[in-house]
Amino acid sequence: MSAPRVGVLALQGDTREHIAALHEAGASAVPVRRRDELDAVDALVIPGGESTTMSHLLRDLDLLEPLRKRLADGLPAYGACAGMILLASEILDAGSAGREALPLGGIDMTVRRNAFGRQVDSFEGDLEFFGLDDPVHAVFIRAPWVERCGPDVQVLARAAGHVVAVRQGPVLATAFHPEMTGDRRIHRLFVDIVIGAA
Ligand code: GLN
Repeated sequence: MSAPRVGVLALQGDTREHIAALHEAGASAVPVRRRDELDAVDALVIPGGESTTMSHLLRDLDLLEPLRKRLADGLPAYGACAGMILLASEILDAGSAGREALPLGGIDMTVRRNAFGRQVDSFEGDLEFFGLDDPVHAVFIRAPWVERCGPDVQVLARAAGHVVAVRQGPVLATAFHPEMTGDRRIHRLFVDIVIGAA
Protein backbone atom coordinates (compact mmCIF):
# COMPACT_ATOMS: atom_id res chain seq x y z
CA MET A 1 0.00 0.00 0.00
CA SER A 2 1.25 3.53 -0.72
CA ALA A 3 1.17 6.04 2.15
CA PRO A 4 -2.19 5.63 3.88
CA ARG A 5 -4.47 8.66 3.96
CA VAL A 6 -5.04 9.45 7.62
CA GLY A 7 -7.55 12.10 8.67
CA VAL A 8 -7.13 14.22 11.78
CA LEU A 9 -10.40 15.38 13.28
CA ALA A 10 -9.95 19.16 13.15
CA LEU A 11 -12.66 20.52 15.42
CA GLN A 12 -10.26 21.70 18.14
CA GLY A 13 -7.03 20.60 19.81
CA ASP A 14 -3.58 19.70 18.49
CA THR A 15 -4.60 19.13 14.87
CA ARG A 16 -1.45 20.57 13.29
CA GLU A 17 0.89 18.67 15.61
CA HIS A 18 -0.82 15.37 14.77
CA ILE A 19 -0.68 16.11 11.03
CA ALA A 20 3.07 16.84 11.30
CA ALA A 21 3.65 13.71 13.42
CA LEU A 22 1.75 11.52 10.92
CA HIS A 23 3.76 12.92 8.01
CA GLU A 24 6.96 12.10 9.88
CA ALA A 25 5.58 8.61 10.52
CA GLY A 26 5.08 8.04 6.78
CA ALA A 27 1.37 8.75 6.29
CA SER A 28 -0.36 11.35 4.21
CA ALA A 29 -2.41 13.36 6.73
CA VAL A 30 -5.35 15.67 6.13
CA PRO A 31 -7.73 17.59 8.39
CA VAL A 32 -11.31 16.30 8.68
CA ARG A 33 -14.19 18.65 9.42
CA ARG A 34 -16.90 17.47 7.03
CA ARG A 35 -18.70 14.29 6.14
CA ASP A 36 -17.13 14.03 2.67
CA GLU A 37 -13.68 14.42 4.23
CA LEU A 38 -14.44 11.65 6.73
CA ASP A 39 -15.65 9.40 3.92
CA ALA A 40 -12.36 9.91 2.03
CA VAL A 41 -9.87 8.79 4.72
CA ASP A 42 -8.44 5.32 5.49
CA ALA A 43 -8.07 6.08 9.20
CA LEU A 44 -8.72 8.85 11.72
CA VAL A 45 -6.84 10.51 14.59
CA ILE A 46 -8.94 12.20 17.27
CA PRO A 47 -6.75 14.73 19.11
CA GLY A 48 -6.94 15.95 22.66
CA GLY A 49 -9.09 18.93 23.49
CA GLU A 50 -12.37 18.97 25.37
CA SER A 51 -14.41 15.83 24.79
CA THR A 52 -17.71 17.53 25.72
CA THR A 53 -17.20 20.32 23.17
CA MET A 54 -15.94 17.90 20.52
CA SER A 55 -19.00 15.67 21.02
CA HIS A 56 -21.39 18.52 20.41
CA LEU A 57 -19.42 19.81 17.42
CA LEU A 58 -19.53 16.28 15.99
CA ARG A 59 -23.29 16.23 16.45
CA ASP A 60 -23.84 19.74 15.05
CA LEU A 61 -21.71 18.95 11.99
CA ASP A 62 -23.59 15.67 11.37
CA LEU A 63 -20.42 13.67 11.93
CA LEU A 64 -21.39 11.77 15.09
CA GLU A 65 -23.43 8.94 13.58
CA PRO A 66 -21.29 8.63 10.39
CA LEU A 67 -18.19 8.31 12.60
CA ARG A 68 -19.87 5.73 14.87
CA LYS A 69 -20.83 3.79 11.75
CA ARG A 70 -17.31 3.89 10.26
CA LEU A 71 -15.81 2.73 13.57
CA ALA A 72 -18.34 -0.11 13.75
CA ASP A 73 -17.28 -1.04 10.20
CA GLY A 74 -13.60 -1.27 11.27
CA LEU A 75 -12.12 2.20 10.63
CA PRO A 76 -8.62 2.33 12.16
CA ALA A 77 -8.52 5.16 14.68
CA TYR A 78 -6.20 6.66 17.26
CA GLY A 79 -7.46 8.86 20.08
CA ALA A 80 -5.26 10.91 22.43
CA CYS A 81 -6.67 12.15 25.75
CA ALA A 82 -10.08 13.62 24.79
CA GLY A 83 -9.81 11.33 21.74
CA MET A 84 -9.42 8.32 24.07
CA ILE A 85 -12.55 9.42 25.93
CA LEU A 86 -14.53 9.67 22.70
CA LEU A 87 -13.34 6.24 21.48
CA ALA A 88 -14.71 4.54 24.62
CA SER A 89 -17.94 2.56 24.73
CA GLU A 90 -18.78 4.08 28.14
CA ILE A 91 -17.70 7.37 29.76
CA LEU A 92 -17.76 8.08 33.51
CA ASP A 93 -17.93 11.70 34.75
CA ALA A 94 -19.02 12.53 31.21
CA GLY A 95 -20.15 16.06 32.12
CA SER A 96 -23.41 17.81 32.83
CA ALA A 97 -26.61 16.60 31.18
CA GLY A 98 -27.03 18.05 27.71
CA ARG A 99 -23.31 18.94 27.48
CA GLU A 100 -21.84 15.53 28.17
CA ALA A 101 -19.11 13.72 26.25
CA LEU A 102 -20.68 11.15 23.90
CA PRO A 103 -19.03 7.74 23.36
CA LEU A 104 -18.22 6.68 19.79
CA GLY A 105 -17.59 3.07 20.77
CA GLY A 106 -14.37 2.18 18.93
CA ILE A 107 -13.00 0.28 21.95
CA ASP A 108 -14.94 -1.85 24.44
CA MET A 109 -13.82 0.08 27.52
CA THR A 110 -15.06 2.36 30.28
CA VAL A 111 -13.05 5.59 30.57
CA ARG A 112 -13.21 8.08 33.43
CA ARG A 113 -12.91 11.68 32.24
CA ASN A 114 -10.52 14.01 34.13
CA ALA A 115 -9.56 11.01 36.29
CA PHE A 116 -6.01 12.14 37.09
CA GLY A 117 -7.22 15.74 37.18
CA ARG A 118 -8.80 15.18 40.55
CA GLN A 119 -5.37 14.33 41.93
CA VAL A 120 -3.07 16.53 39.86
CA ASP A 121 -4.00 18.56 36.77
CA SER A 122 -1.01 17.81 34.56
CA PHE A 123 2.09 15.68 34.90
CA GLU A 124 4.77 13.97 32.85
CA GLY A 125 6.46 10.65 33.25
CA ASP A 126 8.37 7.87 31.52
CA LEU A 127 6.21 4.81 30.86
CA GLU A 128 6.92 1.28 29.75
CA PHE A 129 4.91 0.81 26.54
CA PHE A 130 4.19 -2.70 25.26
CA GLY A 131 6.19 -3.44 22.11
CA LEU A 132 8.55 -0.45 22.43
CA ASP A 133 12.11 -1.02 23.63
CA ASP A 134 12.59 2.25 25.48
CA PRO A 135 10.10 4.07 27.72
CA VAL A 136 7.80 6.73 26.31
CA HIS A 137 7.92 10.20 27.83
CA ALA A 138 4.22 10.85 28.40
CA VAL A 139 2.54 14.24 28.95
CA PHE A 140 -0.83 14.06 30.74
CA ILE A 141 -3.17 17.08 30.77
CA ARG A 142 -6.45 16.66 32.69
CA ALA A 143 -6.16 13.11 31.51
CA PRO A 144 -8.61 10.23 31.64
CA TRP A 145 -7.82 6.67 32.64
CA VAL A 146 -9.39 3.37 31.63
CA GLU A 147 -11.41 1.72 34.41
CA ARG A 148 -12.71 -1.33 32.55
CA CYS A 149 -11.30 -3.13 29.53
CA GLY A 150 -13.38 -5.59 27.50
CA PRO A 151 -11.95 -9.06 26.79
CA ASP A 152 -10.53 -8.05 23.38
CA VAL A 153 -8.71 -4.97 24.67
CA GLN A 154 -4.93 -5.12 24.99
CA VAL A 155 -3.36 -2.93 27.68
CA LEU A 156 -0.25 -1.17 26.31
CA ALA A 157 0.76 1.10 29.21
CA ARG A 158 -0.06 2.03 32.78
CA ALA A 159 0.71 5.09 34.91
CA ALA A 160 0.47 4.97 38.71
CA GLY A 161 -1.28 1.62 38.33
CA HIS A 162 -3.95 2.95 35.98
CA VAL A 163 -4.42 1.84 32.38
CA VAL A 164 -3.44 4.74 30.08
CA ALA A 165 -2.88 3.13 26.67
CA VAL A 166 -4.93 0.42 24.96
CA ARG A 167 -5.56 -1.19 21.61
CA GLN A 168 -8.50 -3.18 20.28
CA GLY A 169 -7.97 -4.38 16.72
CA PRO A 170 -7.22 -1.32 14.56
CA VAL A 171 -8.18 1.19 17.28
CA LEU A 172 -5.53 2.69 19.55
CA ALA A 173 -5.95 5.13 22.43
CA THR A 174 -3.61 6.91 24.85
CA ALA A 175 -4.51 9.13 27.81
CA PHE A 176 -1.38 11.17 27.04
CA HIS A 177 -0.25 13.45 24.18
CA PRO A 178 2.60 11.98 22.06
CA GLU A 179 2.22 14.80 19.52
CA MET A 180 3.78 17.14 22.09
CA THR A 181 7.11 15.39 22.63
CA GLY A 182 8.68 14.84 19.20
CA ASP A 183 8.79 11.06 19.82
CA ARG A 184 7.03 9.59 16.80
CA ARG A 185 6.91 5.96 17.92
CA ILE A 186 3.19 6.03 18.85
CA HIS A 187 2.23 7.64 15.52
CA ARG A 188 4.44 5.10 13.73
CA LEU A 189 2.70 2.28 15.61
CA PHE A 190 -0.63 3.69 14.45
CA VAL A 191 0.50 4.03 10.83
CA ASP A 192 1.68 0.39 10.98
CA ILE A 193 -1.77 -0.60 12.32
CA VAL A 194 -3.42 1.31 9.44
CA ILE A 195 -1.19 -0.38 6.84
CA GLY A 196 -1.82 -3.78 8.45
CA ALA A 197 -5.58 -3.21 8.40
CA ALA A 198 -5.63 -2.28 4.69
N1 GLN B 1 -10.27 16.68 30.16
C1 GLN B 1 -10.44 16.74 28.74
C2 GLN B 1 -11.77 16.14 28.34
O1 GLN B 1 -12.55 15.78 29.13
C3 GLN B 1 -9.33 16.04 28.02
C4 GLN B 1 -8.06 16.84 28.15
C5 GLN B 1 -7.12 16.68 27.01
O2 GLN B 1 -7.50 16.26 25.93
N2 GLN B 1 -5.91 17.11 27.22
O3 GLN B 1 -12.04 16.00 27.19
